Amino acid sequence: MLRILITRFKQGCRTLSFPKGALPVLPVRYRGRPVIAGQGGALDLGAMTFIPDSGVRYSNDFRMAVRRREDLILKGDEYALARAVNDGIVKMFGRSLKLRQVSAGGCNACEADINVLNTPVFDLSRFGIQFVASPRHADGIVVTGPVTRNMREALVKTYEAVPDPKIVIAVGACAVSGGIFADTPQCSNGLGDILPVDLYIPGCPPHPLTILDGLLRLIGRLSKG
Ligand code: SF4
Repeated sequence: MLRILITRFKQGCRTLSFPKGALPVLPVRYRGRPVIAGQGGALDLGAMTFIPDSGVRYSNDFRMAVRRREDLILKGDEYALARAVNDGIVKMFGRSLKLRQVSAGGCNACEADINVLNTPVFDLSRFGIQFVASPRHADGIVVTGPVTRNMREALVKTYEAVPDPKIVIAVGACAVSGGIFADTPQCSNGLGDILPVDLYIPGCPPHPLTILDGLLRLIGRLSKG
């Protein structure tokens, strides 16, 4: 037991200081928000899988969550990062936000990166944000996956079970736009066609920091950048 305590003491605090201080630097292989300034054209981050192809140049910037679907269309340097929903939501959920996660046909990678937020490194609960089992105990839902035909009714029922006011968050390319399943008869082309979405978090899957950054922006705990 003593050895365990000493080892733990030597490890020190493993939790990221984010959002305080400088932005965390991710590994060089990480593919963050693309850079297209000066190259012309536009990129839909909501539909991208962020694979290293087609000449896209990626930055190391993980901040990509936005409030409106159209803001995911990257045209140059400008990028409208998410802002708080409104003062009422900030007051109500700024220090305590309970979320129900709905996996609506995803591959589980998005869900895995959401789970990572509960580890000591990210420690989501220090912001008062927790995932709960019942939508009746939740303030909003976090949806992953392309909303398959079989999951659509369950998703809508879950949404309806959450008391008002409530927020809806789409995590990952599948939930944002249908992702690689877009335009198939079994899936939707994005959660926005089914429910009113308050926050879009792109990526396939999004990095946990991208998700955390978006959540903190939505509840007014982060506004810089
Ligand atoms: S966005 Fe990518 S990682 Fe997330 S569920 Fe869809 S295919 Fe999987």
